Amino acid sequence: MLITGARVAAGATAAIRRRFSVNDGLISFSPRLSHPQPQIDLSGFLILPGLINAHDHLEFNLFPRLGAGPYPNATAWAKDIFHPRHSPVKEQLAIPKTLRLLWGGLKNLLSGVTTVAHHNSYQAIFADPCFPVRVLKRYGWAHSLQFSPDWLSRFCETPSRNPFIIHACEGTDEAARQELRILADAGVLQDATVLVHGVALDRAGADRLAESRAALVWCPTSNQFTLGRTIHPDVLRSRLSIALGTDSGMTGAGDLWDELQEAASAVEAERLYEMVTTGAARILKLPVGFGEIRDGSPADFLVVVDDGQTPAEALVAERPHAVVIAGQLRLASSQFAAICRWPGIRALRPVEVEGRGSYLAAFDTRMLINETRVVFDGDLRLAGKAIAA
Ligand SMILES: [Zn+2]
Repeated sequence: MLITGARVAAGATAAIRRRFSVNDGLISFSPRLSHPQPQIDLSGFLILPGLINAHDHLEFNLFPRLGAGPYPNATAWAKDIFHPRHSPVKEQLAIPKTLRLLWGGLKNLLSGVTTVAHHNSYQAIFADPCFPVRVLKRYGWAHSLQFSPDWLSRFCETPSRNPFIIHACEGTDEAARQELRILADAGVLQDATVLVHGVALDRAGADRLAESRAALVWCPTSNQFTLGRTIHPDVLRSRLSIALGTDSGMTGAGDLWDELQEAASAVEAERLYEMVTTGAARILKLPVGFGEIRDGSPADFLVVVDDGQTPAEALVAERPHAVVIAGQLRLASSQFAAICRWPGIRALRPVEVEGRGSYLAAFDTRMLINETRVVFDGDLRLAGKAIAA
């Protein structure tokens, strides 16, 4: 397949009008024109790399936001909200986990995410071609110092080529502040270590993490909801590597698009672009080529309207009209579907998202809704948004 006419992001601040081909799920800037192939004219559009969501709990995205914060730390939040025998947790947990994971994948796809880091064990369904997005496969993890007593052995068992991801410093109190010292004393602050949240960090803590080449995942709306504030501006200004994450529907405001809007009030567009593309790919130790559009990189990309902005500006201003993963069209807005003759676009299935509009997806949302309705008759919302098919 040959893509022509569009400007293609060459980083946060530059885009070049160039054609490229998609072969075997990879991008090539040296298309073999002697071979006949479908040609797609995307004049008037800008191509951005597929986004990387560095933190989610895919099985918890039909949940409403739970809790009445602000809490001093995440442990206090968890103790307050986890009542599995009572509504609404009881009804949510009655939905089979496989369905809940699919919903989480769909949430990510709808916001332009092509790769997500799931904070729990890797599940077989993630490798199924029907799963809506890519899920990080090689990683070590622990929930947190409080809820994973074996966190140190989990860290030790994680090969250094893989990230080790743990919720940490998620609070505003002394207990949350002390977690950095505990991790440092245990020798866990290394270049593969990824702390999620870090709200308790000050500038010295951020510098200490940066020196150890550890990284942070920032989930601004989740932090605001549970703790009443997010990470300190000094931490955002430090040299620390930071990626952006949504967390789940239990605490986050929505999907990665919503998180980008919130984060844009605190960091400049170029930094934000890196947080969801190349920076996130580096932190999660994804293979070379993820988070960028270059020769040989995975054909994971977004199609947005080209208003002449830089890629970083467009990332925050334009919702994706199409999402492509491994060269396959996974999502198209109804407007895009009306004008684009992408091979196979007619086979996509409709999905309506509250506040976003009508899409076609390479995913049977109607079937997912029907299967969910067998066991759940409550208000069906995906990370806060009503969904219909
Ligand atoms: Zn989390």
